[in-house]
This record gives sequence, C-alpha cells and structure tokens, in this order.
Amino acid sequence: MTHSTPQSASLLFRIRVFCGLLFGLRKHDFRAASTWINTMYRGVSPLGRFTRFVRWSMWQMWCEIPDALCTMTFVAPVSRTPFWLAQGNPLENHPWREHPEARLPARSHVVVIGAGFTGGSLAYHWGKHAPADPSRTMVVLDMGDAASGSSGRNEGLVVMGRYCHMVAATVRTHLADVRADLTGDEREQLAKQFAVAYCRAAYRNGDLVEQTIRDEGFDCDYARQGWVQARDAEEQRSLAESVRLAQETGTIDWTSITPEEVRRRTGMQVTHNAGFSIAAASFHPAKWVFCLFGSALRSCRVELFSRTKVTRVERLGDTYRVHTSRGMIETEYVVNATESYTPLLHPQFHDRILPTQTQAASGFGGPDDIKPHVGISGTRAFFARHGDSILFGSDATRVPDGEAGVNQPSRFITAFVLGELRRYFGPSRVRVTNEWSGTVSYTPDEFPIVGVMDGHRQYIIAGMAGSGTAVSFNGGRCIVNRILERTAEADDYPAEYFSPTRLLNPRDHSWPELDSQEKRQ
Ligand SMILES: Cc1cc2nc3c(=O)[nH]c(=O)nc-3n(C[C@H](O)[C@H](O)[C@H](O)COP(=O)(O)OP(=O)(O)OC[C@H]3O[C@@H](n4cnc5c(N)ncnc54)[C@H](O)[C@@H]3O)c2cc1C
Repeated sequence: MTHSTPQSASLLFRIRVFCGLLFGLRKHDFRAASTWINTMYRGVSPLGRFTRFVRWSMWQMWCEIPDALCTMTFVAPVSRTPFWLAQGNPLENHPWREHPEARLPARSHVVVIGAGFTGGSLAYHWGKHAPADPSRTMVVLDMGDAASGSSGRNEGLVVMGRYCHMVAATVRTHLADVRADLTGDEREQLAKQFAVAYCRAAYRNGDLVEQTIRDEGFDCDYARQGWVQARDAEEQRSLAESVRLAQETGTIDWTSITPEEVRRRTGMQVTHNAGFSIAAASFHPAKWVFCLFGSALRSCRVELFSRTKVTRVERLGDTYRVHTSRGMIETEYVVNATESYTPLLHPQFHDRILPTQTQAASGFGGPDDIKPHVGISGTRAFFARHGDSILFGSDATRVPDGEAGVNQPSRFITAFVLGELRRYFGPSRVRVTNEWSGTVSYTPDEFPIVGVMDGHRQYIIAGMAGSGTAVSFNGGRCIVNRILERTAEADDYPAEYFSPTRLLNPRDHSWPELDSQEKRQ
C-alpha cells in the first residue's frame, strides 16, 4: 500500500485543498488557532506569534495537508458517531426502550449524576460492596445514554495518568497564585508532593482496572503495551528531567526510549528520544462502561435511568432533593460524575472546571506499519490501529461552559492530523468515515478533584485533565468506600490534595504539610 501511494499533490489539487480549508473555517478553528499560538509560541511577542502562525498555517494548507490528502478520501457524509459507538449501544435509552412504563423511584440512598467511566465505576463498586438492603440502592442518571459523553468518544487508552514531572509543573504554576505565603522552594516541594499523590492513586487505578477486567472476564479488548509519546529536539531536556524526577520520586512508570525502540513498538518514525509510559494499556472504552453497568445492574443494588436530565440539586438539611426532567428523587448522598458538564449544573465551578474540546476521527486503511494495542502520540496528535481501521485525533481548546459535550469536530484539524500521520508513518491511503469531538475538563492546576464539594454529603469526581481512565475507577472505589464507611480500605484521595475546596476556597483549604527532610530522603 505504502509504495503505490503518490508522494505529493498536483498544483490543481493544492489550490482545491487550500480553498476548501480556507472557506471551510468555522468558529472552533479560530479558537483552536489561538490555543496553538499560545502553546507553540510561548514567550514570543504578539507580532512574532502572529507572523509565525501565518507562516505555519500557510505551509500546512499549501504543502503538508494537500500532500497528505492526495491519498485520503472522505465518505459523504462523514458520520458524527464515534468509532466506539458505531456498532450500537446496548444500554441505549435504558430502561425506557424495553420498559416504557418504568418510573424513577421517589427515594434512593445515593444518586449519581452521569453514566460514563466515572458513573460506571461508582455503580460497579456499589454493586460489589453495598449491603443487600432495599433501602441502600444507588440510582444513576444520565441526560444522554451511558457512554454518550467523553467516555464513548475518546482515544481508548487506559493511562497511568500524567507523569510526575508534568503534574508537578502545572501544580507549581498554580501554587504561585494560591500559596503566595510559601517560598519558591516550598512551593516546589509541595508541587512534588501533589505529583506523587496523583501518581500513587493513578498507578493503583491502572492495576485495579486490569485486575477487574481479568477477574470479571470483561470483554473490552484490553491489552497492556504502554504509551509512546514523541518529543521534538527542543523537548529533549525536559524529557530527561522528567525521567530523572520519576526515578527520584519512585514514580517509575515514566521513562524515555530511543527512536529505534519507538519504531519497534509503534511503527512511528522519529529522530529523537520519546517519552514512554510503561504500564498504559488500550481498550474499547464504551465496552468498558457497558461491562461496568452490566455487573452493577445484575447486582440489583443499582438502577440506571438514561435520558433523564438533572436540573438542580437541592440540599434539605441532611438529605438532598434531586430535580430531574422526569421528577424528583430524595437521597442521602449525591455524587457528581459530570466532568466537563459540571459548571452547567453547579455554576460555582465556572472557571474551576474548564470544558476543553478534543476531537478524533476514524477510517479504513492507514499505514501498514502502525502497531495495534499501543498508545501512540506524536507531538501534536494521536494515532491508533484497530483491525483494518485507524483512529486519530488532536486538540485541547477551552470552550464555553454551554458547549460541554457538543459534537462539533473541525475538518481543518482532521486534515492537519492526517498530515501528521503522513509525517510520522509515511504516505498511506485512508478512507475517513467518522469524525467527532468531545469535551474533557481541566482544573486551573490540572489536578483532579475527588471528594465532598459542599461540606456535607455531596461528592464530585472531576477535572481529570483528559486522563479520565487514570482517576475514575479508583476515584469511584474510594467514594463508594467512604459512603459505605469501609474504613479499612486504602483511600488514595486524601482531602488535603484532592478536595474541591482547593479550588472553591483555597484560603480555607487544609493544605498538606510539607514533608520533613527525613521523609524526603
Ligand atoms: C477525543 C478524546 C480522546 C480522549 N482520549 C482519552 C484516552 O485515551 N484516555 C483517557 O483516559 N481519557 C481520554 N479522554 C478523556 C476521557 O474520555 C474523559 O476523561 C472521561 O471520559 C471522563 O469520564 P466521565 O465519566 O467523568 O465523564 P463523561 O464521559 O463526559 O460523562 C459525563 C456524563 O454526565 C452526563 N451529564 C452531564 N450533566 C448531566 C445532567 N445535568 N444530568 C444528567 N446527566 C448529566 C453526560 O450526559 C455524560 O454522559 C479523551 C477524550 C476525548 C474527547
């Protein structure tokens, strides 16, 4: 396939692609352009940024993208259904499709809002550990279907989380605003402690996911072969530092591999060392959600109601009234598993949970060399092989709260990623069939929140910074354990690191003590 594909586009084709891209630009393309400028040209003057960006985009539209597109075709119309949901959703319109007469219960011990990775994890752990007592039920509500949010629209990697160096860097930057009382060295130390707490929780999460899939015999295409992340020449120093910090802190999932090793593991051609998350895995994310709910629903301790929108959560002393599009439910506990949609339901999270759009596309064909079952990231895009299809995507652009979950992929970004695919794997033929977007959420310090959000019995798991598989399963386990008072179980989300008060009210937050010198050694 690779040998018979044309190497470069004709003049006429270039003009056609250039005009198509230019006239096809939409609102999101301009937002994404601004993200690009801010991340790629940091420290450059505004005029410098503008001229560099214009030069870069002209090069893309005239050279890179037309050369890539001359071997690509798009079916008409390209479907907006994510690759993972193309074969249907066994929990579609649950339970109304089979039981149109069903009604929401008037009471439930726990109400979970959201039925993605996080809601599914809460349901799974509740199904396993709650007592068989009819008054101790959990109701899960979703305004769409299970896995209709980001959990059914992603890349399909079970990540070990962000690596220690990255977490420390984002937390340190934010600490300068909220912990101005500390010295620079103290902030550095505190940021490192945050990073280690994050990695510890994420590593256990990754192992729990694997163990659960094996023990339960979940059929969700799970394979654990790591995640390779390309790095440019100018990123080599930071890569080396990140590997050093991983060794120093014992967060050793993260290492660096040579270009030959990158080629062997992924098929990707790079000229510099790449980052490598050793224990990351790949799976079918929607099947994972269906398996979690399958187990939970069989336990008879959990009920799932899709297409039921929560409009308000009202606290009544020690209990809550959850208002929905189908009526009200009284409950002792509420858990918000609403990720990027959270500020729409709880406006106090505006500017604290930032909905951020990412997109993907899939199609038949692709490079022969690209290896399956391994995470593959270039410096600006990701790629994966699934049978005779490939999946690829990019972008991380903040969108207004009201656009959480809106499916609005950019064709420019799809075309750009196809150019990146050619850059890393050489020319190949792809027939693009599906193209979609989803929203993840970032907190200002890019550190997740797992804990009580109102000082009472309302919990939240969110702000997972595009790495939901690294937090949701263990996070769900810990919240279920807290509600069921299973105090002997390890809790990886101590409030001093993970409580939402860190964001909602940093002055009153009980920040972690700085580790003593002896503990650091
Ligand atoms: C293109 C793309 C690639 C990604 N790749 C990866 C990856 O490889 N690995 C990884 O770990 N992560 C990845 N992510 C991120 C990952 O998908 C998310 O972190 C994860 O899905 C979040 O899970 P969740 O259950 O918390 O949220 P969601 O899956 O977004 O679920 C939230 C649910 O809440 C429901 N909801 C919201 N408000 C209400 C309301 N008021 N009433 C009722 N229901 C409500 C929504 O309908 C939705 O179903 C990617 C995301 C995208 C978009």
